[in-house]
Amino acid sequence: MSVSAPTLSIVIPIYNEAGLLEELWDRLRVALDPLGLHWEVIFIDDGSRDETWSVLERLARADSRIRALGLSRNFGHQIAISAGLEWARGDAVVIMDGDLQDPPELIPEFVRRWQEGYEVVYAVRARREASALKRLAYRAFYRLLARMAEVDIPLDAGDFGLMDRRVVEVLRRMPERNRFVRGLRSWAGFRQIGLPYARPARARGRSKYSWRRLFRLALDGLVAFSTVPLRLATWMGFFVSGVSFVGIVLYLYRYFTTPRVPGFTTLIIALLFLGGIQLITIGIIGEYIGRIYDEVKQRPLYVVARTLNLDRPRQGGLT
Ligand code: UDP
Ligand code: MG
Repeated sequence: MSVSAPTLSIVIPIYNEAGLLEELWDRLRVALDPLGLHWEVIFIDDGSRDETWSVLERLARADSRIRALGLSRNFGHQIAISAGLEWARGDAVVIMDGDLQDPPELIPEFVRRWQEGYEVVYAVRARREASALKRLAYRAFYRLLARMAEVDIPLDAGDFGLMDRRVVEVLRRMPERNRFVRGLRSWAGFRQIGLPYARPARARGRSKYSWRRLFRLALDGLVAFSTVPLRLATWMGFFVSGVSFVGIVLYLYRYFTTPRVPGFTTLIIALLFLGGIQLITIGIIGEYIGRIYDEVKQRPLYVVARTLNLDRPRQGGLT
């Protein structure tokens, strides 16, 4: 096992991708070896239930540049990345998906930009292979996030990118459990540059992000980087109060001028409308409170069950 710290660490979260690992490893080697750098790959097996770990074991035996972290269960993509960041030792760290949607061939360009002096180089999805509905949802989300977020989060940029050690240290010192990594990276600042690329479809298997998980990720991002939804609740409150006030004046006027039985329909409409607004508002507040609850519990972010070619326990997770 090599002990000297590598120049470049590649962090790759893996969840049930056994069939892809060999091809991924081959393409990584072809892309990285010509750079003449000392590099390592850290696979984070995020509680896979297929052959992923045994394939990793085989690969890691053959090449000590392969390191792996086996989490004790499925903790989710963003947490798996965060675990990888804690164990990566490189002067620069690349984050990429393991399904070949993030082509390894882009990494040399990242490294070039890093050597030019950029602390963060991220890939921007100029085009993406996905269903029309998903493309629309992604587009809408990144634009909404850009409008609402308190930091500038670039449009259509995922986690695929390179970060200098200094930026990695900033991310590692962020204690939050709700980890929207691409947002945290923007928050860190430094010199950042985006490189456009066409995002291919995944090489094999199915996306691990169902609509439900995508929606949760989107909500995590919005809530972590914006309090606009809370303000929205306040504005809704003002709006409804304003409308109600006008309504009250109108009804009082009618009561004194043309006395008759008050309208049942009006009553029902007002009741349902108010009920709806109140539930939405409580829901918005709930999203924030739920996350506050997650933070105060102060549980470790992840639990490591086993490692390959790695022996240094790190903070943040339980080992
Ligand atoms: N992944 C993970 N844990 C999860 C879900 C996904 O480690 O709970 C990994 C997955 O194996 C892949 C990467 O994260 O390497 C991105 O996932 P996926 O391709 O399913 O997401 P999409 O590209 O559809 O957004
Ligand atoms: Mg993918």
